Amino acid sequence: MEHVRDLTLLPKAHLHLHFTGSMRPSTLLELADKYGVRLPDALTSGEPPKLRATDERGWFRFQRLYDAARSCLREPDDIRRLVREAAEEDVRDGAGWLEIQVDPTSYAPLLGGMIPAVEIILDAVDAASRDTGLGMRVIIAANRMKHPLDARTLARLAVRYADRGVVGFGLSNDERRGMARDFDRAFAIAREGGLLAAPHGGELTGPASVRDCLDDLHAVRVGHGVRAAEDPRLLKRLADRQITCEVCPASNVALGVYERPEDVPLRTLFEAGVPMALGADDPLLFGSRLAAQYEIARRHHAFTDEELAELARQSVRGSAAPKEVQAKLLDGIDHWLTG
Ligand SMILES: [Zn+2]
Repeated sequence: MEHVRDLTLLPKAHLHLHFTGSMRPSTLLELADKYGVRLPDALTSGEPPKLRATDERGWFRFQRLYDAARSCLREPDDIRRLVREAAEEDVRDGAGWLEIQVDPTSYAPLLGGMIPAVEIILDAVDAASRDTGLGMRVIIAANRMKHPLDARTLARLAVRYADRGVVGFGLSNDERRGMARDFDRAFAIAREGGLLAAPHGGELTGPASVRDCLDDLHAVRVGHGVRAAEDPRLLKRLADRQITCEVCPASNVALGVYERPEDVPLRTLFEAGVPMALGADDPLLFGSRLAAQYEIARRHHAFTDEELAELARQSVRGSAAPKEVQAKLLDGIDHWLTG
């Protein structure tokens, strides 16, 4: 029998993980208890909730669950715990690098304002990184449901903290609302400040939303981007420019973007030469973490170990990790294959 390599030992970079969504389910229960928050049953059943985000009601429901979980993060200690546990979980899953995504606006009211919120988050990331040995950075993400002026303010704030661990600027929430180009100024500010542009696109809406990310926001990475699979010319463009798609298979299935794990077009993107960084998105809500995404590639798409190693390399190359960190991880990936 052929030796099966352990995917939790495959070094990889995790580039698509949302802040509250990274929480351990057991931690959410403890924090809800601490603050007397009554959580929706969908968050306490021990089973990932059934969501259909492809219609607006389903997306709204997903956001409501996310908000309920976020309302349990009230003190700096909760933030520190969340980040440390996210780092611990990712280390266990073989991550050698983590970029965690956060919209500080949502946490600011309880943490004393935007600047204190950002500083608490960045300090927590520093501490978690020191404690676990995992390299970590932050992507600050604007919310496309809010006004583009808010996104500009956030971009300026993100740039101010570029030397404190912020490496990128994102754009999240319902792709069906607003146009990417409404946020072009915010992204220009972020790019001019040296941050990488990593907006969400091509998840709930089709290839056009990925094109908008490239044309209007000059994305160097795209959150999800899977729907690009529907447009061969766009795939070629992504491949030619080596734009990394942060593909989150379990999330896609949980939110009904695709019916089954085997329907997520991992093969299509891979064969087209589009770099991918598999990510967990919101493990709290979708029930699986980083290594499980690689398991999906192996089990449902018959990725060989050589191909899985190549996926891991793509995640590392798409990351904002310093060159020496990348080199070490790439080395570890070779060892995983040959060891
Ligand atoms: Zn996301």
